[in-house]
Amino acid sequence: MQSESDQTDPLRVVEFYSGVGGMHYAVLESKVPATVVAALDINTTANAVYRHNFPHVNLLQRDITGIKLPEFQSWNADVFMMSPPCQPFTRVGLKGDTADPRTKSFLYILDILRRMAEPPNHILLENVKGFETSETRSNLVATLDECGYCYQEFLLSPNQFGIPNSRLRYFLLAKRKPLTFAFEHQTDIMKEMPLIGSATPANQNTSSSEVVNQNTSQNKQEIPCPYSIFDPEDRDTTNCREISEFLEPHSKEEEEGLLLQDKLLDRYWKVLDIVTPSSRRSCCFTKAYGHYVEGTGSVLFSQTDVDAKDVFTKVSKSEDQSERLDLLHQLKMRFFSPREVASLHCLPPEFTFPQATTTKQRYRVLGNSLNAHVVAELFKLLVR
Ligand code: SAH
Repeated sequence: MQSESDQTDPLRVVEFYSGVGGMHYAVLESKVPATVVAALDINTTANAVYRHNFPHVNLLQRDITGIKLPEFQSWNADVFMMSPPCQPFTRVGLKGDTADPRTKSFLYILDILRRMAEPPNHILLENVKGFETSETRSNLVATLDECGYCYQEFLLSPNQFGIPNSRLRYFLLAKRKPLTFAFEHQTDIMKEMPLIGSATPANQNTSSSEVVNQNTSQNKQEIPCPYSIFDPEDRDTTNCREISEFLEPHSKEEEEGLLLQDKLLDRYWKVLDIVTPSSRRSCCFTKAYGHYVEGTGSVLFSQTDVDAKDVFTKVSKSEDQSERLDLLHQLKMRFFSPREVASLHCLPPEFTFPQATTTKQRYRVLGNSLNAHVVAELFKLLVR
C-alpha cells in the first residue's frame, strides 16, 4: 500500500461503475500519477465504449456483487472511485434508496470495505443531488467512520468551473486517517471548491464586483421560449465559456439528422430549453436526450437571420398544426450531437465512440456519465 509521502509509484485506482470512463478521464486530466488497475461495469454498451478508448485497461464486465473480498484485496488499491447507479436517489424517481435493487451493489461495496484488511487510502464518490439525504448516504458515512476515514461532501456543478452546463452533483472525498485534507474540513456540504493556500478556485477568476455589475438575466434565456423550468440551478453563469466553443462542424446530412423532428416540435415546443452559440449555459443532459425533449437537456438555435421571438409569438397564436410546424421549421432547432455533449462533459477530443454504437446508445451512456473536469479538480484535492 502506498503512502502519500511515497511519490515514486503511481496511485493504484479501481474504477467501479466505470461506464464510458468519466472517472478515468478525470484521473488523466488531473495529471496526478495514477493507473487504473481495474474498471468494472455490467453494461455492454458502456463497456464497448470504454474498451474502444482504453483498450489496455483491465475492464471487467462483471456484477460487482459477484466479486469476493480476496479479489478486492488483490487490486492493492490506493483509490476507489465510483459513481453508483443514481436512479434510486433522483428527484423525479421513486426514491427507492436502500430498498431499490440497484443500490445492492453499493451496499455490498460498503460491506467489503468494512472487511478489508487494508482498505484504500482514498475514496471519491459521485452521485445525484438527492443522495445527500438518503439512507444509503447514512450507511456510507457510518461505514467511513467505522473504517477510520475522514470525509468531505460537496454539491457542485460544472458551471461553477466555467463550463456552460448544469449538472449539479453530490461528491464525497474520503481519506483514511491519519491522512488529512489539505483544506479546512466542513461538517456541512461544501457548495464551492475550497481554497488551498493561495490557490484561486476556478470559478473565482473574476473579481466579485465585476460579477455583480453584469446583467445576469441577459444570458439566462435569449430566446423567448415560453417555459424554461428545467434548469434546477439559478446560478450566475456570466463567467462561463460560450457554447460556441463546444460546437462541432457538421455536414449538411449530419445537421439534418440532429434537427428536432416534427413529432417533438409540435408536442413539446413550449417546454424546450433553447440555447444559442453565444449562451453561457445549458441544461443537464440526461440519458433520454435525443428522443425526449422535456427536461432532458438543451437544444440549439443558431439561425442568426431568423427572429425567434417573432416566430414563437406566431406559433403561440396559430391554431393550425401545419402552419405551426412550418413556422417552427424556420428555427432549425437541433440537438447537440453526442460529441458536443461529450465536450460539455469535458471528455477530451481523444474520446470517441466505436462505430457500431447508435446515436441513441451514445446519448444514453453520456447521460449516465459525469463532468470529467469537476472530478479532476476533486481528485487533485483528494490526493493532495
Ligand atoms: N461514471 C460512469 C457512469 C456511471 S453510471 C461514466 O463516466 O460513464 C452507473 C453505472 O453502473 C452504469 O454504467 C451501470 O451499468 C453500472 N452498474 C450498475 N449496477 C452495477 C453492478 N451491480 N455491477 C457493475 N456495474 C453496475
